[in-house]
Amino acid sequence: MPERSTHCQKCPALCQSRTQIVAPDLPEFGRPCRVLVVGEAPGADEDAQGKGFVGRAGRTLHTLLEAHGLRRGLDYGCANIVRCRPPENRKPTTIEIGHCLPYLAETMERAQPQAVLTVGETATRAITGIRGLSENMRFLAEYGQDPKLAEMLYPLEIRRVWPEGTRLFPMPHTSPLAWNRNAPDGRKWAAVGVEQVQRMVDVL
Ligand code: SF4
Repeated sequence: MPERSTHCQKCPALCQSRTQIVAPDLPEFGRPCRVLVVGEAPGADEDAQGKGFVGRAGRTLHTLLEAHGLRRGLDYGCANIVRCRPPENRKPTTIEIGHCLPYLAETMERAQPQAVLTVGETATRAITGIRGLSENMRFLAEYGQDPKLAEMLYPLEIRRVWPEGTRLFPMPHTSPLAWNRNAPDGRKWAAVGVEQVQRMVDVL
């Protein structure tokens, strides 16, 4: 079925800046989607190739997931909060996120993932409505990673389609700059990211 977003013109600035719309990719041959990775937006490489998570940050993520036995296209799929590259790689605005969220909801509904792995603060905030990566991790740890327990916080589009029992795991952005910064607890964000992926794999 063709993606509904194929000719989307809802975000004027992003229509100007994008080369193409970057649609999500899910596991092939009808394989179950164990994990849906959700990033912020396509970057330069993704915009040029029309495929998500193909740049340096994406490669860091795939290496980490592969080390935990998860293979792109076989075990996990990739999507973004917004499907078009923002100008100058700026963060998508709240309005742009709102425009694109129904497409992510469609992807969620189709994929029925066991877990959602949000990469970076913007992607996580767009789904939970909670600001701050550490705050999201604390909150979800308290609620057992089950968003249904905190459904008041989720945007309606996401709440409506969130599969029963699907867990949410936020992790830091894997760009070299973000990955090597210190988290509030003094560890590198990279160490926090590895820990989050391990936590997720433990419940799959
Ligand atoms: S970001 Fe999403 S909603 Fe905005 S123009 Fe692109 S496909 Fe449409």
